[in-house]
Amino acid sequence: PGAALGKLVAKLGQPMIREAIKMAMQWLADQFVMGETIGKALERSRNAAARGVRFSFDMLGEGARTAMVAERYFEDYRRAIDVVGAFQATHKSPRAPGISVKLSALHPRYEMAQREKTLRELMPRLAALCEQAARADIPLTVDAEEADRLQLSLEIAGTMLDNCSLGGWEGLGFAVQAYQKRAPAVIEFFAGLAKAHNRKIGLRLVKGAYWDSEIKRAQERGLGDFPVFTRKENTDVSYLASARAMLAETDWIKPVFGTHNAMTVAHILELADDPAVLEFQRLHGMGEDLYRRMEGEGLGTCVYAPVGMHDVLLGYLVRRILENGANSSFVHRLYDRSIPVATLTEDPAALAGAHVEKRHPAIRTPPDLFDGRRNSQGLDLSDPFVTGPLLADIASFRPKFYRAAALVEGKEMEIGGGAIEQAFAAARKAGPAWAHAPIEIRAACLDRLGDLLETNRAELMALLIREGGKTLPDALAELREATDFCRYYALRARADFQTLDLPGPAGERNQLRLVGRGTFVCISTWNFPLAIFLGQIAAALVAGNSVIAKPAPQTPLVALCATRLIHEAGVPTDVFALIPGGTEIGSALVAHKDVAGVAFTGSCATARAINRALAAKDGPIVPLIAETGGQNAMIVDSSALPEQVVDDVITSAFRSAGQRCSALRILCLPEATADKILTMLKGAMEELRLGDPGKLETDVGPVIDRPAWQKLLDHAERLRKEAKEIFTTALGDAKGIFIAPQAWEIPSIEWLEGEVFGPILHVVRYRPAALDQLIAEINATGFGLTGGLHSRIDHTMRHVEGNLDVGNFYVNRSLIGAVVGSQPFGGEGMSGTGPKAGGPHYLLRFAAERVTSNNLTAAGGNASLLIAASS
Ligand code: FAD
Ligand code: NAD
Repeated sequence: PGAALGKLVAKLGQPMIREAIKMAMQWLADQFVMGETIGKALERSRNAAARGVRFSFDMLGEGARTAMVAERYFEDYRRAIDVVGAFQATHKSPRAPGISVKLSALHPRYEMAQREKTLRELMPRLAALCEQAARADIPLTVDAEEADRLQLSLEIAGTMLDNCSLGGWEGLGFAVQAYQKRAPAVIEFFAGLAKAHNRKIGLRLVKGAYWDSEIKRAQERGLGDFPVFTRKENTDVSYLASARAMLAETDWIKPVFGTHNAMTVAHILELADDPAVLEFQRLHGMGEDLYRRMEGEGLGTCVYAPVGMHDVLLGYLVRRILENGANSSFVHRLYDRSIPVATLTEDPAALAGAHVEKRHPAIRTPPDLFDGRRNSQGLDLSDPFVTGPLLADIASFRPKFYRAAALVEGKEMEIGGGAIEQAFAAARKAGPAWAHAPIEIRAACLDRLGDLLETNRAELMALLIREGGKTLPDALAELREATDFCRYYALRARADFQTLDLPGPAGERNQLRLVGRGTFVCISTWNFPLAIFLGQIAAALVAGNSVIAKPAPQTPLVALCATRLIHEAGVPTDVFALIPGGTEIGSALVAHKDVAGVAFTGSCATARAINRALAAKDGPIVPLIAETGGQNAMIVDSSALPEQVVDDVITSAFRSAGQRCSALRILCLPEATADKILTMLKGAMEELRLGDPGKLETDVGPVIDRPAWQKLLDHAERLRKEAKEIFTTALGDAKGIFIAPQAWEIPSIEWLEGEVFGPILHVVRYRPAALDQLIAEINATGFGLTGGLHSRIDHTMRHVEGNLDVGNFYVNRSLIGAVVGSQPFGGEGMSGTGPKAGGPHYLLRFAAERVTSNNLTAAGGNASLLIAASS
């Protein structure tokens, strides 16, 4: 098909294909969107309305990224209520048309972490819309969105009802998703709310539109379980159970059912005593045949009718196309002639009951995502029942130690030359026993260490926040990464450190095995004081080496805490020693004659110094595994979705105050869409909050120390003189060594002199025709760590992938947050030596290979050959 399409394009020419695709999009838009404006949509609804069909208009657009866009959506809703209200005032329909509202459109930070801000800013907007709808006496329903917004949406609903005057209006409604396991509790909540406010509330029961993304998000976040069901029939049963709960409360709940499934409709009709109290709703463009029949039978029906311009409908269209195309979807199966009616009408309760295993066996739960090892535990930071105790534990944590100390042979020592000599002597002595211990013993230590990290979560997070300036989500992510390193390397070691039989002539046994090299020195930086620090050590230890580690001088307490856990996990105290300190200690460690290898993470300059120091020594030539900095660029083409670009730029450039080696430094925008994206980026940057990293609402914490801060201020000064400012976020109340997230348009990539390790984003514009030149300029920086592309064109993806010299290439996502085992991490060129951390080849570099060839015939003939030949 590819070649045929290619020929077709060649024959017809691109403009023609473009026209055809435009027409197809237009058709899809007409199919699923009622009109570009509320006026046009109302006009289009006239005929059906005359037949008694009710309409609920939805202003397309979701997930406002900026205050300005949220304001625009708010105004759109207001205007829509005005227009629909005026229409109703003249037509006086007994089934007044209404409005559906998405809370994510009304606020750019509608999320639990910004709870207070959301309640302060979003709640009054919703109240204003409800009061307006109440005055016009038209219904208003609040849509249900992602599961991690559910709790906040309930709080907003409650607070809104406490604070606004809606008179006797009975038009307020909320959507409830039956695929969520909490659906019955949500219905109970709304019934309670209705009773408390002596006001009837409409509940629109739907199955839920974000199923695949809920599954993905829960797996990514390492949650204990999914918030949604994993079998379609379980959702169907939940829907019926929820319907029953709603129908039991019809004094307080107006039951509304959003479905295109004829079986579901039939079930509801069976459950209801009085069909007159029910309303069924379908989406515009779907379920027409079924609903025509229902209208014929006198049932109350309503069409949910999206309204909007074509540039905002993509998200909605994609959901509809997925829904119509999904194998499990009723509408899809209805038109599949190979599926008999008896199958279509199977009772979901019987189907669900018949499964011994109620979960879908092919959908891995988040803890079981990876073969052979448990996924690290994440936490749902949108759940106050999780964050409440976590924050309390972190706040009450008092460190057992406040002072950097060396830990040699399990004892605290003054940092200095004595500690170094003693650590090497101990390692030399203890090394052979550790190296010859069965791999299972060493691997089990890492597994225990992974578990200990999780049981000491609050303590480690407190240290990461207080000493490393990490925000809560960053501290959690780091803890998870450290845990994953332990379990992943344990798993790999069990597989890789088995003796390997090699082929050869009869009468000879050839075997390859891996052994530790001796004493490894692990030197790390402060920006991942737990994950990178432990990752290097875990790999070196499990490969059979003794280890002396030097953490960064900025973060000795995290290292001390981790060291105690390493020993607690069973690593002998003489096999692992900690010697904190700065350049001097680092140089002394590297220069020691006993060093069998160095694992290093830090700047390129230090890596070079270590390389030279190792080269200057007589004696064995030892490996250096270095992971260094980057000059990371993201290329955006004009097909990219601006909202997604902006989300990923904010995450990549400003999370962790830009202090990740993978962070985005250069954003390359095409001339055609640069202004649009930059406007949106400004708005999103405006929403970032700086402050105490221990607070849930903080997005950006301080930078690591005063010298780093000064360096960034100096760079900003140069930018002020030579570049064009795009935006700088306000510091707000943040006092101390904070750098405000900022974006600057620079003259060229060449203009940048090196890595800028902070929340400063550089932007360049490029002409699409000059894409190759842009790639060449990025490659010419000499770094090769991370690179990104935002494009919806496969060909561009393959082209950039093939030509951009980076170790980790990210497409249509952020540049940070590599996951152990899924995205092995590390650069090339000036960015590192490899092999990649968290990848299948990492451990091998820490080990020496030994081969034994044994001439079996020397022991008096080849018995096995004789036996084989005679059988
Ligand atoms: P069916 O084919 O019976 O059900 C399909 C649904 O089953 C899927 O959408 C999914 O929810 C669920 N499902 C599919 N596979 C699985 C599986 N493996 N495990 C568990 N569950 C599975 N959606 C929202 O999220 N929020 C809203 O506010 C919202 N408002 C709507 C308003 C109206 C009027 C309508 C009609 C729909 C609305 N929707 C909303 C969309 C709605 O969620 C989908 O249209 C609905 O899920 C389709 O269900 P169905 O009964 O028509 O089809
Ligand atoms: P740095 O090179 O100054 O320090 C790193 C470590 O090396 C520290 O522990 C330091 O005390 C030690 N050190 C300094 N001089 C030494 C010497 N002569 N001999 C031995 N040890 C010495 O780096 P930094 O400023 O702390 O860290 C930031 C850098 O780290 C950035 O460039 C960043 O990109 C890079 N980094 C890379 C990765 C990666 O995986 N590629 C990850 C995190 C950070």
